[in-house]
Amino acid sequence: MSELLDVVILGSGCAGNTAAIYTARANLKPLVFEGHEPGGQLSITTEVENFPGFPEGIHGPALIENMKQQAQRFGAEYRHGRVVHADLCQRPLKLETDNGEQIWTRTLIIATGASARWLNLPNEQKLIGHGVSSCATCDGFFFRNKKIMVVGGGDSAMEEANFLSRFGSEVALVHRSDNFRASKIMLERAQANPKIKFITHTVVEDIYDVEKGHVTGVKLRNLKTHEVYDREVDGFFVAIGHIPNTKPFAGQLDLDADGYIVTHGGARTNISEVFHAGDVQDRTYRQAITAAGAGCMAAIEAERFLEAEGH
Ligand code: NDP
Repeated sequence: MSELLDVVILGSGCAGNTAAIYTARANLKPLVFEGHEPGGQLSITTEVENFPGFPEGIHGPALIENMKQQAQRFGAEYRHGRVVHADLCQRPLKLETDNGEQIWTRTLIIATGASARWLNLPNEQKLIGHGVSSCATCDGFFFRNKKIMVVGGGDSAMEEANFLSRFGSEVALVHRSDNFRASKIMLERAQANPKIKFITHTVVEDIYDVEKGHVTGVKLRNLKTHEVYDREVDGFFVAIGHIPNTKPFAGQLDLDADGYIVTHGGARTNISEVFHAGDVQDRTYRQAITAAGAGCMAAIEAERFLEAEGH
């Protein structure tokens, strides 16, 4: 066995970094695997205005970097890469990284997050942070009196459209059919909102304008009439669901039908050595501050577990 650790943390977003700060301060020398998106979702946002303690706001990447440095100051070690295989049945727990490295640990904090599902349009990724977003709570404020578009037909899309109607001059909700997965109450609320215009049986085919460096409009296709047309848009919000990053744990951890970790109270999973933190379990709040709080909870539970086991 090459190395046996007390705590390994998977993920370096708000949840993982906070868990690292707490476990490092408890002298547990945590090892953090940064994952395929180092810094998590905050690393792709611009200004964060709702994280307490920053009256003027702070850039997402700067906030994440500060957290990382804070954890490193107390002895947390960060490594590039991610865990692709986990054997959670043996003790200590055995992990294998994407470069073939094997790690053994007494406890594991899973803070691998959930990735927004994107439409995979040609210009979508290039315009993230410049008009394209997957988080209305994070970015809605930047579109005061602007034209906003939301794509999706589930509760997320209804919630985001309603929330964004507080800011935008108009909100166009684009959905590929007229069957909505959204709950009746959320759908009716959006339909009753005079600022929200429903555009059904329609898909987005392109987002403009990469050359100008920000969103100016979209190309739409009506799937019934096959009409293709452009529409002016300043803020483009994709709300077609999230994908929790739990693949290496399937079959070992209790996951729900969509792959989210099922909580067994607090930060506990069905395996006593394994704890969850952040969006990998939380499909409801999904905020930087709630993820940070969850990271703190997971760290405290891991610390108490180790103490009870005499380590
Ligand atoms: P859902 O999976 O419920 O809905 C996804 C929506 O996106 C569907 O309308 C789907 O259309 C559409 N979609 C998926 N892929 C594409 C694509 N490639 N192009 C165009 N449209 C696409 O996800 P949500 O995030 O809305 O909700 C997830 C869960 O979280 C649900 O259980 C929901 O109830 C819950 N939630 C609850 C809230 C609340 O109660 N306040 C708020 C937000 C979410 P189609 O139907 O055609 O496949």
